[in-house]
Amino acid sequence: MRMLGAKWLAKVAVAMLVASAAAGAQQQSVDARVEALLRQMTIEEKVGEMTQLTVQAVARTHGTATTAQTLDSAKLDDALVRHNVGSLLNVWDVALTPQQWQELTTTVQRVARRKRLRIPVLYGIDAVHGHHYMTAGTIFPHNIALAATFDPELVRRASQITAYEARASGIPWNFSPVLDLARQPLWSRFFETFGEDVHLATVLGAAAVEGQQRDPRPALDSLLRTGAGPRATAASNTRARVGGDVFVAATGKHYLGYSMPLTGRDRTSAWIPERQLREYFLPTFRAAIAAGLRTVMINSGDVNGVPVHASHEILTDLLRTELGFTGVAVTDWEDIIRLHTVHRVAATPKEAVRMAVMAGVDMSMVPYNLSFYDDLLALAREGAVPQARIDQSVRRILRLKFELGLFDDPGPDAAMLANVNAPAFQAVSRTAAEEAITLLKNQGALLPLAKTTRVLVTGPGAASLPAQFGSWSYTWQGTDTAMYPRGTRTLLDAVRATVGAGNVTYVPGVGGTGFATEMDVAAAVAAARTADVAIVALAEWPTAEKPGDITDLTLPAAQLRLARAIEATGKPVVIALFQDRPRIVREVVDSARAIVTAYETGPFGGEALAGVLFGDVNPSGRLPFTWPRTTGGLLHYDRAQSEEVSPGGATGGYDPEWEFGHGLSYTTFAYSDLRLDRAAAGQRDTVTVSVTVANAGARAGKEAVQLYVRDLYASVAPPMRRLRDFQKISLGAGERRTVTFRLPVQRLAFVGLDNRPVVEPGDFDVMVGGLTQRLIVR
Ligand code: BGC
Repeated sequence: MRMLGAKWLAKVAVAMLVASAAAGAQQQSVDARVEALLRQMTIEEKVGEMTQLTVQAVARTHGTATTAQTLDSAKLDDALVRHNVGSLLNVWDVALTPQQWQELTTTVQRVARRKRLRIPVLYGIDAVHGHHYMTAGTIFPHNIALAATFDPELVRRASQITAYEARASGIPWNFSPVLDLARQPLWSRFFETFGEDVHLATVLGAAAVEGQQRDPRPALDSLLRTGAGPRATAASNTRARVGGDVFVAATGKHYLGYSMPLTGRDRTSAWIPERQLREYFLPTFRAAIAAGLRTVMINSGDVNGVPVHASHEILTDLLRTELGFTGVAVTDWEDIIRLHTVHRVAATPKEAVRMAVMAGVDMSMVPYNLSFYDDLLALAREGAVPQARIDQSVRRILRLKFELGLFDDPGPDAAMLANVNAPAFQAVSRTAAEEAITLLKNQGALLPLAKTTRVLVTGPGAASLPAQFGSWSYTWQGTDTAMYPRGTRTLLDAVRATVGAGNVTYVPGVGGTGFATEMDVAAAVAAARTADVAIVALAEWPTAEKPGDITDLTLPAAQLRLARAIEATGKPVVIALFQDRPRIVREVVDSARAIVTAYETGPFGGEALAGVLFGDVNPSGRLPFTWPRTTGGLLHYDRAQSEEVSPGGATGGYDPEWEFGHGLSYTTFAYSDLRLDRAAAGQRDTVTVSVTVANAGARAGKEAVQLYVRDLYASVAPPMRRLRDFQKISLGAGERRTVTFRLPVQRLAFVGLDNRPVVEPGDFDVMVGGLTQRLIVR
């Protein structure tokens, strides 16, 4: 009794201390609050803060389309209260309803309040194209499609909505955006990136970070007020204290060099010389950090033989010392364990923990058990990991929790939850889908089709929501069709709605898992003969991560055979595509009259695609990557001139199916009058570049005006051109506008022989819309 009483008294005293500390702390700076808390923490509590478990580890049953995941209170108690685990993540299998999220995050924080120091839990989620692990969440096109819009404001808005819905459900941490560059088309996560170009991905990545981290409620309030629908006027509780200085912590992932595995297989070796690492793969992270990025997630693979989770050079020297990152570095899934089991750079799991923490890891996504906790505790007690190193990480984690306002109000917000998937939010997703879809070919102006056209619709992309949404949709791989909201329109639904069901014949053509099984090609061919036009919807079976490893970029043969068979009827064929990455479709390109890609555009992908096919939407998407023509022709638009040399007329050079930046419109844009405000500029100058763009056609359209620069001679073989700026503009029929770019000379820098950025004096060509002007840099 006496013991218990003493313990209880001690607990109350601590609780009171903490409570009074919390009250007085409003005035204190975050740093002071962090230090005050850190001083009270035991080593067990510190190691617990650095531990992140998947919710599966504290759940009793997993979720399915019809049953909810349930928590196991004993496991939750053991993890949070007994072992001080500081962070949880994800769902167990399927998305939760808003109410289930509300209950889950409320329960988690209620249990966390029973920790001795009441340190709240940092809940993290993948909300990589909208809050797709919430059944009612607003889903957006995947990043590769957002990149095709060339519109940073759309990316910002989508990120604001995602953050808003995550925070509404009590989740303050999003493992997004992917800041990897899509330079390896075989790689299964190509669609999660903002494309192959450094500048485009840098600008869009920074917009995604700011959109999530800065309180979006003022902007979204006005969107909700102006939007249509019943919830349009619902207040979003702007004044409530949800979030501190950071609304939702964004995660730049997967730092660094993840996207360029030599073989294309996920989580394998990349061989990237330091110069290229800095030239191509570092700038997105550098810019995101400058924009305030609070967390990074580490690359699961190795770069130049060194697993990044064990690289002090990348995790500390580069990330902390050079880039000045002050936030939290979290591992990816099980990656410390994999230093031992897969990479084999650590002879024991415990050695793996030591290596990773000493390299600079702050938090381990363990994620199934307490092995990291136990090993780190032992290492700390043995002195193999210094207390100061642990304190450094715990400080970062606590600071983030304070910045997110978790000590004040970690829970979900009912008023915000009421706005989830508001019509105004859906409208943003629809706009993004419409602006992403990219018209690649339109021979003889076949498109847009008249709404009286009798069409055959065939192919695996026609009626598949998983193909249209892509993975990370309600489930990890996105293939559980039972999870998709009823009433979401596929391409087939949308075509029927546009031309009338009587004008549409649908024959699947190809199906099965992997969309690789021929079904009723003969029936499709017969139906094509009686139609005016055939819409052949080809699609990649959606995947994410390892399940998406492939060794052949060509689209499955069954699909190409289907398209060839339809083309052979002589009827005009429109090929519509949904895909993770640029799958090679060479053999069906030349005979197709029109080709359009919808990437993975989400809930409005089908309607937006039909809108393009039948002219309600004038396409304005531009490819954010190079679409290869052949399996061996994997060049990027910013290749060196040596790629262009083709002795004896042999094929060579940049000869893709479609170039980076390519995309057609139903109107034409004429460029004229490219001017620089000076012919010569110094290193510190900013050059003003202007160009006149006229809509020379008969309908309104949007144009991504792209400014490229070519450095004519440099000490490192210069690329043929580099995108240095862009602007998306909208022009009515007959309208013209002068577009102005402010181009700092420093943006023309490349990473020189000494691995530092340099602008070498000399001649540069500035190119916009087929026009060129020479700039001399002194
Ligand atoms: C992926 C990450 C993701 C994490 C948590 C990993 O397997 O590589 O991108 O954020 O899982 O779900």
